[in-house]
Amino acid sequence: MTQSGDLAIIGGGIVGLATALALTEAHPRLRLILLEKEPQLAGHQTGHNSGVIHSGIYYKPGSLKARTCVDGARRMKQFCDTHGIKWEGCGKVIVATDEAELPRLQTIYERGQANGLSGLKMLSAAEVREYEPNCRAVRAIHVPETGIVDYVQVAAKMAELIQQRGAQILTGARVTAIDLAPDLLKIARLHKLESGVEVDYRLSSVEALAAQQPGSYDAITCMEMLEHVPDPASVLAACATLLKPGGRLFVSTLNRTPAAFALAIVGAEYIARLLPTGTHQYRDFIKPSELAAWLRASGLQLEDVSGLIYEPWRNAARIGSRTDVNYLACASKPVPGEVEGPVPGRAEGPA
Ligand SMILES: Cc1cc2nc3c(=O)[nH]c(=O)nc-3n(C[C@H](O)[C@H](O)[C@H](O)COP(=O)(O)OP(=O)(O)OC[C@H]3O[C@@H](n4cnc5c(N)ncnc54)[C@H](O)[C@@H]3O)c2cc1C
Repeated sequence: MTQSGDLAIIGGGIVGLATALALTEAHPRLRLILLEKEPQLAGHQTGHNSGVIHSGIYYKPGSLKARTCVDGARRMKQFCDTHGIKWEGCGKVIVATDEAELPRLQTIYERGQANGLSGLKMLSAAEVREYEPNCRAVRAIHVPETGIVDYVQVAAKMAELIQQRGAQILTGARVTAIDLAPDLLKIARLHKLESGVEVDYRLSSVEALAAQQPGSYDAITCMEMLEHVPDPASVLAACATLLKPGGRLFVSTLNRTPAAFALAIVGAEYIARLLPTGTHQYRDFIKPSELAAWLRASGLQLEDVSGLIYEPWRNAARIGSRTDVNYLACASKPVPGEVEGPVPGRAEGPA
């Protein structure tokens, strides 16, 4: 079944869920969809970690890591208390097993103090054994703020709250990304390492993917790409082949108008230098009427055309009615046997 929303988050681990939770709290009207490839949430790292609520003692005072870890640990405990999830404030001991390790232990202790951890205590060898009878150390730090929790339970509660706020969570929903430029895929894979989300990036043309997996995608996005390919109609036909019946295709591209020439080529490439000169060729820009004709020829139904308006002073973009520069189109693949009816918000006709 095809779902629609304003924003999609890929990955139902703690990072995706916590992001969805914060976004739905800050923007109650946001229509958010979280996509998880597995049949259940928290099936990877989140469900297979050591369950420690880290205190933030190790991190350099003032660093982002230190601030987020210290604040995150307190907020995690608060979250658990609010929602009846059991966590244990068992604390931990960090030990120096010989004299040579003492200066490093002292540095960790000072970092913990600078990071605002409460109750830190330097233990003697005898005191260490009171906490951990089987531990042999010359000295140790007791960190009472470290705790343990079951992150699968935390994830389940987050998912419940997100859904109560009207967001959708789709499991069994894998995201695949393709590109024909090996360098871009390299960058995307690096980004994947940072974000932790394992999007399946493939070096493939859409036509090749369509030959392998016809009728298997619920939604396809093709953003700012059609104006760079020699045969946009072929790309759209392949997207149509890839979609399941009822699936939706989202396309954004540049209109062939004097305004688009002025803003996207002269403004962005020559004046503001947001893009390298020569990125765009005016003749390759696409009028919405041309796009509509290619979509129809591929058997897709155009549902909506909206303007995509970039506001450089805010470094942000918004959806609006002005389609003469950048625009977004949405088309759907008809379900066999279903009579085509009016779609809410459907464009009367392309400009
Ligand atoms: C051995 C080990 C022990 C750890 N112990 C602790 C600890 O005690 N305390 C602590 O705070 N941290 C610990 N961590 C770190 C912590 O587990 C991770 O930082 C955290 O779980 C990362 O969450 P995540 O949401 O980014 O990743 P994940 O939990 O891995 O979630 C990513 C999700 O994305 C989904 N996904 C991937 N690709 C796609 C796709 N193409 N389409 C759709 N969905 C996709 C996956 O199925 C997965 O569910 C530990 C890590 C490891 C490896």
